[in-house]
Amino acid sequence: MRYTQDAAGKKRVTLIEGDGIGPEVTGAARRLLDAAGAPIAWEIHEAGAKVFRAGLQTGVPNDTIASIRETRVALKGPLETPVGFGEKSANVTLRKLFETFANVRPVREMPGVKTPFSGRGIDLVVVRENVEDLYAGIEHMQTPGVAQCLKLMSKKGCERIVRLAFEVAIAEGRKSVHCATKGNIMKLTEGLMKRTFEEVAPEYPDIKAQHIIVDNCAHMLARYPEQFEVIVTSNMNGDILSDLTSGLIGGLGFAPGANLGDGIAIFEAVHGSAPTIAGMNIANPTAVILSATMMLRRLDEFEVAQRVEDALMSTLEQGTWTRDVAAEGSVSTSEFVDRVIGNLGTRSERWGVRDHKPLQIRPLAPGRDWVRPKQRRTIGVDVFVESAASPDELGQQIEALAEGLPLRLKMISNRGTKVYPDNGGMTECVDHWRCRFVLRESGAVVEDPMVLELLGRVGKSVRWMHVEKLEEYDGALGYTRAQGED
Ligand code: NAD
Repeated sequence: MRYTQDAAGKKRVTLIEGDGIGPEVTGAARRLLDAAGAPIAWEIHEAGAKVFRAGLQTGVPNDTIASIRETRVALKGPLETPVGFGEKSANVTLRKLFETFANVRPVREMPGVKTPFSGRGIDLVVVRENVEDLYAGIEHMQTPGVAQCLKLMSKKGCERIVRLAFEVAIAEGRKSVHCATKGNIMKLTEGLMKRTFEEVAPEYPDIKAQHIIVDNCAHMLARYPEQFEVIVTSNMNGDILSDLTSGLIGGLGFAPGANLGDGIAIFEAVHGSAPTIAGMNIANPTAVILSATMMLRRLDEFEVAQRVEDALMSTLEQGTWTRDVAAEGSVSTSEFVDRVIGNLGTRSERWGVRDHKPLQIRPLAPGRDWVRPKQRRTIGVDVFVESAASPDELGQQIEALAEGLPLRLKMISNRGTKVYPDNGGMTECVDHWRCRFVLRESGAVVEDPMVLELLGRVGKSVRWMHVEKLEEYDGALGYTRAQGED
């Protein structure tokens, strides 16, 4: 279900006006859509600063959640988490609650908005995975001075975002998709996205599929951005790249976005609440208007979306700009929208609007155990410990503790580099060590009692804080080697 309708046949949309400039820019978009004849029944609900201040820790009241659950479509202004209220952002709460796994952020060159890239025809979409990766925010202080953030990426999560990127290309008539990863370094997490992309790409033979290392992607975006059409990437990479791409076309005032899940879509500009200009009627509503046109297409209102976008392009082309674009001769937020409304029905010759087809989001099969190996076995264990000793002192201490056990110490690494047995390097060490244990006897497997016995022994003299089993799936290692480990 992509959307729902009320008794009069209007398409229901939950509107969250948001904080700061939110009410001004969402109000502008709503006025424009109403003037363009979009058949929308707006259902206004709250989230953000006011809700946090009223004492609700999540910043998102139940009636807002219930409304989105029913309407399936929301247009949202920016939300703030006021200092001292609530720990989690209301934006992240909404994203997680509705499993909006994709963040789609298109950018294109805008009429009259001068940038170093003007005239190059930038027109691309960043498709960012939205719920996994480092932004799951699973963090621990493993020692008083060493922090860890878990980077969790799933095959299922990679597959659904990669498929969505190809579907975005088809819906928007684009010819290529780049997948930007750091799979050359993080072979199991980022590499999973790369491998999934390479597996899925042959199902879309009409779209040119290319992998690119994410840092080179940033470099290429700064040099030849016009070569990109769709870039699919993981959560944090996508957050950074999509802010970069917003910058290429003149800034946050022009960068729209959609958060998409299975049967749920929340549309919002990339920008925040811009508190320093809130209430001044000078904010640029373009980003929210473009988010609203993405929403219209989700509601199958392709013709209205085209009219609104055509009118917006004409208005900008006529030199009607808000203060973020033109220091002199700028118009207010409300005047800008009045002029866009006045331009409804006009179309720029030069600044065309792309044809869109409905975007297909095919839900994946519901199974949780998405990958089922035929064979698996545990072949070792990594025990992470805290110690102020030197690598040699610690190595000898741990070896003595493990004496007589089926598991032996293979090596110790410090922040990923092998430091014991000594390999002649000059690694600076901190008090956080990974002790890798493997079986003394080849062909055997690690059983839980062996690990518990080992932990009991190690824990007598060294503080351990984290344990990771070393798995083998269908003969392939389910872990990476340390720098310098053979
Ligand atoms: P911001 O996007 O609000 O502002 C960054 C800069 O861009 C400011 O100079 C601002 O004036 C300008 N700007 C932003 N949108 C503009 C517009 N439409 N027209 C003209 N100028 C515009 O980012 P920030 O200052 O880092 O964040 C402010 C607040 O917004 C914070 O509380 C943050 O947590 C929140 N935020 C919310 C969202 C969201 O709801 N999705 C996103 C980002 C930030």
